[in-house]
Amino acid sequence: MRPIITRSGWGARMPRKPFTRLKPSRVVGIVLHHSGVQNGPSGPKALKAFERTHMDTRGWNAIAYNWLVDEEGVVYEGRGGGIVGGATRGWNSRTESICYTGWGSGPVPDKALESIRWTMDQIQNRYDNKLWIKGHRDKASTSCPGSELYAWLQRGRTMPKDPKLGAKGVDWEAVAKYVAALGEQVAAKPLSRRRRSRGKAVELVQRQLRDKGHDPGGVDGIYGRMTAAAVKSFQRHRGLKADGVVGRNTWNALFS
Ligand SMILES: [Zn+2]
Repeated sequence: MRPIITRSGWGARMPRKPFTRLKPSRVVGIVLHHSGVQNGPSGPKALKAFERTHMDTRGWNAIAYNWLVDEEGVVYEGRGGGIVGGATRGWNSRTESICYTGWGSGPVPDKALESIRWTMDQIQNRYDNKLWIKGHRDKASTSCPGSELYAWLQRGRTMPKDPKLGAKGVDWEAVAKYVAALGEQVAAKPLSRRRRSRGKAVELVQRQLRDKGHDPGGVDGIYGRMTAAAVKSFQRHRGLKADGVVGRNTWNALFS
């Protein structure tokens, strides 16, 4: 468990009217945002700045995001869990949102990525791990959450400690090489339920399936019945041969 700075902890203002609760059965995803400004305020100051913009300039009910994560990896409660947010037009009653308070188009510190992933896992836990994970740009015409943060989503939220990475932020080349190397292994020996495949590659496949909206029934690194069904569903969706086996083509489709 890592500490979360609660609304009272960062001095959030009272919402204009009571928060509306999300209907859990309607919630389908998690949307990631970033501050959209370079060299903006950091820590609680960033939260107060968002709050001022959202409440005073735009006249919204409260800070728009459900959760926020700063460059140091500190997690903050925005509107909090299970509450209708205001950050993703058209999707606020069907998603929870996370905002990285830094600039997502430059290097994002490892500790921030770890906290973002941790926050996503906490949200998933509350919704039986059934949610897709997308960037704001998937739902609107915007560059949010920035090129680097979006690339991290596309690459399966691979953690810095998985491949060999530099001390400062994520070395994207190393992450890409890592995914490519696993892909070569998969091409040589496809992953399948029949083979009882398990391990890191299966775990990454499950994460990608879940993020793309094909529920593999959990991310446990074991290629079971639900993973095979999710692979078939993904393959059909992408016009691939729906055999439930992850070889080169399906791997490439999952990671592109
Ligand atoms: Zn956004």
